[in-house]
Amino acid sequence: MQPRFSFRRGTPPARVVHQLHLFRGSERAPRDNSWLNDQLEFIWATWFADVAQVTPLSIRFVRPWKRRLAVIYLTDDERHSFIGVNRLLRDQRVPYTICLVTIAHELVHYTHGFGSHHPRRYRHPHRGNVVQRELTLRGLADELRFYTDWTNDRWFELLPDLVAGPHTHEPFPSAPDDVAAATVF
Ligand SMILES: [Zn+2]
Repeated sequence: MQPRFSFRRGTPPARVVHQLHLFRGSERAPRDNSWLNDQLEFIWATWFADVAQVTPLSIRFVRPWKRRLAVIYLTDDERHSFIGVNRLLRDQRVPYTICLVTIAHELVHYTHGFGSHHPRRYRHPHRGNVVQRELTLRGLADELRFYTDWTNDRWFELLPDLVAGPHTHEPFPSAPDDVAAATVF
């Protein structure tokens, strides 16, 4: 958690811009798994504070997919939730807001009972734009718009550079796609 951030859900749009600006202070922090955990805590406390942690949730950078930014699923024993985030998002050329919305998207699935033991609220995880609607209701409309534009306009253009770019030598074992049988969202 970043103690200086005390924003709550339902922040009006003007404040959202302010908030993005404030967050810039830590934007250059190295994006390792500890940073990722801090982001999860921050995002949960800020926009999902009403969502009970019914299933213990962990998060980690995983393999570099080309067409997926993250995934959430229940682990084999179904007692834990796991969010795997595409490790290409560690690169600072990927704007912070992309990381934020990527994690928030998976938290929406968790809230809707996909990859968690919350009651399943919908039959399908994405149909009817339920994720986008939930993010908007929770005050992330501006961030979502930026995310949608950026992933449409920039992701595939930047992908070769991200794949070739410098990365740490930190290992990233057991990616979600190694558990082929798991249901992922
Ligand atoms: Zn999804």
